[in-house]
Amino acid sequence: MIVQNLEVVKERIQSSCILADRDFSEIQLIAVSKHFPSSLIREAYEAGQTVFGESTLQEAESKVACLPEKIEWHFIGRVQSNKVKRILLNFKAIHGVDSLRLASYVDEVAANLGMFPKIFLQVNIAEEKSKGGFLIREVLNCMEALLALKRLHIVGLMCIPPFSDDPESSRPWFAKLRMLRGQLEGEFSAVLPSLSMGMSGDYMVAIGEGATHVRVGSAIFGERSYPGGSDPQLK
Ligand SMILES: *Cc1c(COP(=O)(O)O)cnc(C)c1O
Repeated sequence: MIVQNLEVVKERIQSSCILADRDFSEIQLIAVSKHFPSSLIREAYEAGQTVFGESTLQEAESKVACLPEKIEWHFIGRVQSNKVKRILLNFKAIHGVDSLRLASYVDEVAANLGMFPKIFLQVNIAEEKSKGGFLIREVLNCMEALLALKRLHIVGLMCIPPFSDDPESSRPWFAKLRMLRGQLEGEFSAVLPSLSMGMSGDYMVAIGEGATHVRVGSAIFGERSYPGGSDPQLK
């Protein structure tokens, strides 16, 4: 099942690339394995998938410990400062850095560990009360200070647009994130090649709007079940 799902997702990425006149190699598929057991991650890994996303440290640590070292783990959840060290030790990239204060702290911990972590700045692109992320004016105000954090390899921006059943409703938000990236590159001479945007429902649209990293969970692993209903982070 997972092997077929992965094939379908990869074919759809491929056709979205053709439509958008982009190269397939520009897109990194992050298989979001949160709430799914290690056995399924191993199945996906054996089918050739090497990059996985997790949103809680506790859940990820036990998986990292028992799965192949070759797996590249990306942290896509909310980052709590008391967990930064363990997140850095387990993950190659962090997609949820959402304040200057947190970024400065990650920089400090990374310096202590001798690391240069890959960072995506999460932007609350639709300025939703329920979501984390920099507001647009905040990221513009903080960019200079963020770029001065020498341990952080800030590769680009990440967003989670408002929840909708219609993938097209995400398009303007993805376009907005891409334009914000252009503005930051122009105003701050920053180099921000990466856009982490698009999930199971809208990754094809995201690729059309410039995504380089798509975070796809349920389309690969199946529906997740949550103790309290839906995923609080995504609503
Ligand atoms: C869970 C999650 C995803 C994957 O969502 P699906 O709809 O299952 O593809 C992507 N990004 C973040 C930040 C998530 O928390």
